[in-house]
Amino acid sequence: FRGVIAVDGPSGSGKSTVSKRLAGALGAGYLDTGAMYRAATWAVLRSGAALTDPAAVTAAVHAAELTITTDPTAVAVRVDGQPVDAEIRGETVTAAVSAVSAVPAVRAELIAAQRRIIDAARDTTGIVVEGRDIGAVVAPDADLKVFLTADATERARRRSTENATALAATQADLHRRDQADSKVTKPLEAAADAVTVDTTHDPIDAVVDRLLVLLAE
Ligand code: C5P
Repeated sequence: FRGVIAVDGPSGSGKSTVSKRLAGALGAGYLDTGAMYRAATWAVLRSGAALTDPAAVTAAVHAAELTITTDPTAVAVRVDGQPVDAEIRGETVTAAVSAVSAVPAVRAELIAAQRRIIDAARDTTGIVVEGRDIGAVVAPDADLKVFLTADATERARRRSTENATALAATQADLHRRDQADSKVTKPLEAAADAVTVDTTHDPIDAVVDRLLVLLAE
């Protein structure tokens, strides 16, 4: 496979699982842009910058060296060489990530880094990129754009199974994050030319198969 596949949608829509399996099936790379925003947030929290101070948040992100691998079976995220894979999935980072992602200079820096990673893979292995704004902003020239959705209750159920947290708390957190993400940056826009796939009732493998068919068309 050569080229770029953009997979956007809210958390719990099945984005990560679908994107990784699709990349695996194609022998393509995989880029988790949410993990990059989470790693940037980890760096901001480490620096002690106030989340309400966009200049300090931007400076903390700029000072940190973020790296991420593109192997769908072994995603590894580092900040200044230190592995942060577990920390970036924790409650502290999850609670702060919308605020950090809302800072325009942070988005500009991460989008530039994402485009460099995409360009390095585009003509070799190809790459599946998952996020919120990939089809609309990061890679508007993607070969296939997918927008995954699912019922809010089903999204919370998936997340709480993944993280072994209480369903009600997860539902509240997802709702809060959906609101914060869409209010400040509107990153959750499906690109006009995206294919919307509702995953509420479909097993993941069926969704992946459907995307492989779309790609072959
Ligand atoms: O996908 P995940 O839930 O890990 O994303 C974490 C957060 O990163 C989102 O809630 C959103 O604030 C931010 N994000 C973003 N743009 C992206 C990917 C993630 O703003 N392309």
